[in-house]
Amino acid sequence: MSDTRIRKVVIVGGGTAGWMTAAPLVLRLGASCEIVLVESPEIGTVGVGEATLPSIRYTNLALGLDEADFLSKTQATFKLGIEFRDWGQVGNRFFHGFGGFGPPIENRPAYMYWLHLSRSFKDMPSYEQWSMVTAMAQSNCFAPPHDALPSITDSYSYAYHFDAGLYAAYLRDYAMLRGVARIEGMIDGVEQHPETGFITALKLRDGRRVEGDLFVDCSGFRGLLIEGVFKAGYQDWSAMLPCNSAQAVPCAKAAQLTPYTTSTAKSSGWTWRIPLQHRTGNGHVYCDGFTTDEEAGRVLLEGLDGEAQGEPRQLRFTTGRRRKSWIKNCVAIGLSSGFLEPLESTSINIIEQAVGWLLQYFPHRDCRPELADEFNRLVAERFEYVRDFIVLHYKVTQRSDSAFWRYCADMPIPDTLRHQIELFRETGRIVVYDPHGFSVDSHVSLLMGLGVVPKVDDPIIDTLRFDQLVRHFASRREIITQTVKAMPEHAHYISRHCRAP
Ligand code: FAD
Repeated sequence: MSDTRIRKVVIVGGGTAGWMTAAPLVLRLGASCEIVLVESPEIGTVGVGEATLPSIRYTNLALGLDEADFLSKTQATFKLGIEFRDWGQVGNRFFHGFGGFGPPIENRPAYMYWLHLSRSFKDMPSYEQWSMVTAMAQSNCFAPPHDALPSITDSYSYAYHFDAGLYAAYLRDYAMLRGVARIEGMIDGVEQHPETGFITALKLRDGRRVEGDLFVDCSGFRGLLIEGVFKAGYQDWSAMLPCNSAQAVPCAKAAQLTPYTTSTAKSSGWTWRIPLQHRTGNGHVYCDGFTTDEEAGRVLLEGLDGEAQGEPRQLRFTTGRRRKSWIKNCVAIGLSSGFLEPLESTSINIIEQAVGWLLQYFPHRDCRPELADEFNRLVAERFEYVRDFIVLHYKVTQRSDSAFWRYCADMPIPDTLRHQIELFRETGRIVVYDPHGFSVDSHVSLLMGLGVVPKVDDPIIDTLRFDQLVRHFASRREIITQTVKAMPEHAHYISRHCRAP
C-alpha cells in the first residue's frame, strides 16, 4: 500500500497563530513529518493579544512548558477575570471572573438561591460576594486553586496576561529546538495542481519555492491563501459588532499589579488595561463611524495610569469570520480565519481550539473534504457562540448617552442571543450551547452585571428553608474571607514564582 501520509506541513506566518500552531504540531508529528514556517519581517505581526482564557494553561501544559519559566520569559501576570466599568450604565462596575458562585445546592445553581434570598432581604450583599475570584481581585492577591482551601478549590480558575511578542518568540524557540525550520521571505504567489487545485508550493519574491502537502494559513487579517487563493468569502458581523478600529499603546507599569484585565466602556467603544510585569498594555477599541481617530487617541491617552511608551498604534478590522477556514489542502488559523474584538480575550483561545481540531482531524495527503467540513462546522460554531457572548455586552446596555450606545441598544441581534436574554429575564435560566465556552456562571455575571434581573425564581428552590440558605451563604462568605486573607499579594506571588532569566 502506498504511503498517503502528509510528509510536509508549511505554516504561513510567524505571529501568535503561526507559532501556536507550529509548537503542538512538531510535538505531535515531528518524527513523521517535516514542518516549515515562512514569515516576513517586512510585514510584521499584529503584536497585540495580551489577555487569555484559562485554556492557555492546558495548552502550555500539553507542550510541557514550565510555568515559572513561562512567567519570566513572557513577563506574564495572572488573570482572574475582567473588571467591567461603565458597561450597562455609567458608574456601573462588575467582575466577570474565572469562577462561580459556589457549588450547586440540591442540584440547582447557587445564583438561583441568592436571587431567592435577595428578594426578601433587601440588604443582602451582592451576588459577587460569593465569588472567590471577585474577592481575590478586590484584595489584589493571588494563589492558584491548589494552594487555596480544599472547600474552595473547585470554584475558580485563572489565565495569564503576557507580552504577545515574547510569547510568540518563546514558542518559536520551543518549536525550532524540536525541528521546525523557519524561512524568512516574502510570499508573492503559489503554484497549484492543475487538476485538484491543491497548493503545491509557495513562491517567494527572491525566487525560492517552498513545497508542501498541507498549508496552514496564519498570515493574519489578509488571509493570504484562504482568501487570496481560495476566495473563501467573509461573513461580516459589523451590524451587530460595529467597532472596527483600535489604537494600542503600552505605558509604564502601575504601582499595583492587578490580577485582572480592566475594560471601561467609552462613548464610542471601550478601553482595555492589561497589567504585565514590565509594563501595562492599553488600547481603545471603537467604531470610526461614531468618533474620529484623533478623539479616540485622546480618550486612550487620558485614561493611562502611567507614562505612554511611544505613540498609539492604529489598527483596523472587520468583525466576522471566513465562510470556510479549511479548503482543499489549506487550513486558516488565527486572524486569517476571522476576528472578534478582544472584549473577552477569545482570539488566542480560538487559535488553541483550531489547532486542537486540526490535530484531531489531521488528514492524509488527499485532504478528504469530510474532514474539512467537520473542521469548518466546529470553527463556525465556536465563532458564532463567542460572537453572541460579545454582542450581549453591548445589546443589554441602558446607556443612551451617545449615538454609539443608542445604536447598540436598537441593533438587530441573532435569535440565539435574543432567546438567551429573554430566557434569563423571564425565568432566571441559562442555556449553555458550547461545552467548551463560557459557563452558566459567566453568563450570570454578565447578565446581572449589566443589570438584567430575572422576573421570577426557579420554583423548585422554594423547598429549602430560609435559615438554611442564610447559614449556607454566611459560611461560604466566611471561608472566602479567611482564604483570601491568607493569600499573598499578586506581585509577591509572581516574584516568588518567577524564575530569574
Ligand atoms: P499576525 O500577527 O498578523 O501574523 C501574520 C504573520 O503572517 C506575520 O508573521 C507575517 O509576517 C506573515 N505574513 C503575512 N503575509 C505574508 C507574506 N506575503 N509573506 C510572508 N509572510 C507573511 N487576542 C487575545 O486572545 N487576547 C487579546 O487580548 C487580544 N487583543 C487584541 C487586540 C487587538 C486590537 C487586536 C487587533 C487583536 C487582539 N487579539 C487578542 C487577537 C490576537 O492579536 C491575534 O489573534 C493573534 O495575534 C494572532 O495573530 P495572527 O498570528 O493570526 O496574525
